[in-house]
Amino acid sequence: MSRLLYLTTILLFMWTCQSGPKVYESFEDYPLYEGTDLGLTYSPQASIFKVWSPAVEAMQLKLYEQGLGGDPIREETMKMGDDGVWEITINEDLKGKYYAFQAKSDGNWRDEVPDPYVKAVGTNGRRGMIIDMESTNPEGWEADKRPALAGFNDIIIYELHVRDVSMDPNSGIENKGKFLGLAESGTKTPDGLSTGLDHIKDLGVTHVHLLPSYDYLSVDESKLEENNYNWGYDPQNYNTPEGSYSTNPEDGAVRVREFKQLIKTLHDNGIRVILDVVYNHTGATEGSNFNQLVPGYYYRQNEEGGFSDASACGNETASDRAMMRKFMIESVKHWAEEYHMDGFRFDLMGIHDIETMNAITSALDEIDPSIFVYGEGWTAGSSPLPDENKAIKANTTKLDRVAAFSDDIRDGIKGHVFTHEAKAFVSGLAGLEESVKFGVVASTQHPQVQYDSVNYSNAPWAKSPLQTVTYVSCHDNHTLWDRLAISCPEESEEERIKMHKLAGAIVLTAQGVSFLHAGVEMIRTKGGEENSYKSSDEVNRIDWARKGQYPGVLDYFKGLIALRKGHPAFRMTSTEMVQQYLEFLEVSDNNLIAYQLKDNANGDEWTNILVVYNGNAEYKTLDIPTGNWKVVLDGERMNEEGLGTIAASQLTVPGRSAMVLAQ
Ligand code: CA
Repeated sequence: MSRLLYLTTILLFMWTCQSGPKVYESFEDYPLYEGTDLGLTYSPQASIFKVWSPAVEAMQLKLYEQGLGGDPIREETMKMGDDGVWEITINEDLKGKYYAFQAKSDGNWRDEVPDPYVKAVGTNGRRGMIIDMESTNPEGWEADKRPALAGFNDIIIYELHVRDVSMDPNSGIENKGKFLGLAESGTKTPDGLSTGLDHIKDLGVTHVHLLPSYDYLSVDESKLEENNYNWGYDPQNYNTPEGSYSTNPEDGAVRVREFKQLIKTLHDNGIRVILDVVYNHTGATEGSNFNQLVPGYYYRQNEEGGFSDASACGNETASDRAMMRKFMIESVKHWAEEYHMDGFRFDLMGIHDIETMNAITSALDEIDPSIFVYGEGWTAGSSPLPDENKAIKANTTKLDRVAAFSDDIRDGIKGHVFTHEAKAFVSGLAGLEESVKFGVVASTQHPQVQYDSVNYSNAPWAKSPLQTVTYVSCHDNHTLWDRLAISCPEESEEERIKMHKLAGAIVLTAQGVSFLHAGVEMIRTKGGEENSYKSSDEVNRIDWARKGQYPGVLDYFKGLIALRKGHPAFRMTSTEMVQQYLEFLEVSDNNLIAYQLKDNANGDEWTNILVVYNGNAEYKTLDIPTGNWKVVLDGERMNEEGLGTIAASQLTVPGRSAMVLAQ
């Protein structure tokens, strides 16, 4: 080859490389972007747009006057800069305009979508909106503070859907189905009973966990009069609120402002707020922002090269890939900083890798170490991520200050979640005592728990009680009341109410972080529906009339919450403390659990506390340490001043009830 031909060939090769997209062997070879300015950086002088997508052929920015429909008012070709980022700066004030990006790959223009980092969107989240985030701050936002929280052991969570709290025609709430509805105070039922915010405040919970409130896919925001309902576990835009909960989905600033207003109002009322986050999958698969802009990258692939599906929703994200991990960390930080969010509940956390979850809590620690993180320590299907890397329940000890839901105690109390007729501890089935005891010690190591007899775990999985979320019901599956009705059809309502209260007493006296499904304190029913994720408001909403129908149950739950809040013995902070101060008593009956919280456990003013759960239909008698005991809780009520005294060495506990005694 002549020297000239050789040089020409080299130059031609270089030209080819520069004109086409770069070709990478694998997603892992993509260059990474370290900056924190992906998406839009707005000022009145300029808008800077950046989209990371190393392997596509071209990227366009389109500007619109509307959030939906119409033709672009401007189309701009973006330029590939460093680290796989497409960039364009427009030196004008674009406030109020909408925008979308379009990537070209394999010679085809893909769908127009907002970027994954988008912070404000128009109707149905189809386009980003250029807004000034500062203008979304409600009055007094700068002074907004997280309510005091001494430790995670003090947390009592109330799990609530934004719509459910207000949609009942008798809720007395004006902004039905909206963020602002939960921010209304002074609301009452026709009978004059408080509803909504006032009810929750009066109940005494410390945190409200809102079901998905980021922008999700399933509800058509352009047809709100159709009143479609969805839980929202189908994310579309992770970093901005859901439009159907706002009073105007078209104006991207409104949903941001109204969600902030809700958070501020809850804070002003002493209640912290938790966002339910669903980074494990996206609502759309092929059509998601992630996939339209960076084909394939943000997802795990199965052996055939298609989307793997550990979420059972069509795809699973790849938190173990650097730019997905970065996205999750920045997204959580966005909610914590921009919205003052106080906690995060990770849906199907087992799909995420341990390193990512630890990076998230580490990032949150820098903002405020009292921000609580917990999740579902399981997946909904198999994943290519190796088990040892998954943030599953069995790996909780490898997670830094991340808690997991205890399905062990949940099903120990009421029965296997998918075997609807199954009875359990509160409904009189023997054999679940160790599962309940496992929950009482919050899944930690305790010398008196027989781990080989626990329903789902054969070893402790929490390194501290603060890593266990103790619950019996949540939005998923039957409500506690419906479950008891299905599994105990032969029992009277009166007997099932006893079981219901006993279940509440176990949850609220057990160690760990307490978690209540909204409405459980009013015997919530969904008419027996197991999976109401897209059922009607009639099925899902909180029926405030029940507050008047079951005042005894409500008072009981309020009493339990007050008892827990008033006595640190129920909220011990370490495994060692639980080992030292919690002692189970010998009992000779099935379905009977008794334990002492002794020696002023965790600084409690009571020297000794005796807790007994009797899941049998009949009364049971057991030996107790002698002394003068004050009864503070029975199956009917709680009274810290005492419901009577017992000076005997034996205690008789009525059927299907809990007792707490103190000295
Ligand atoms: Ca939406």
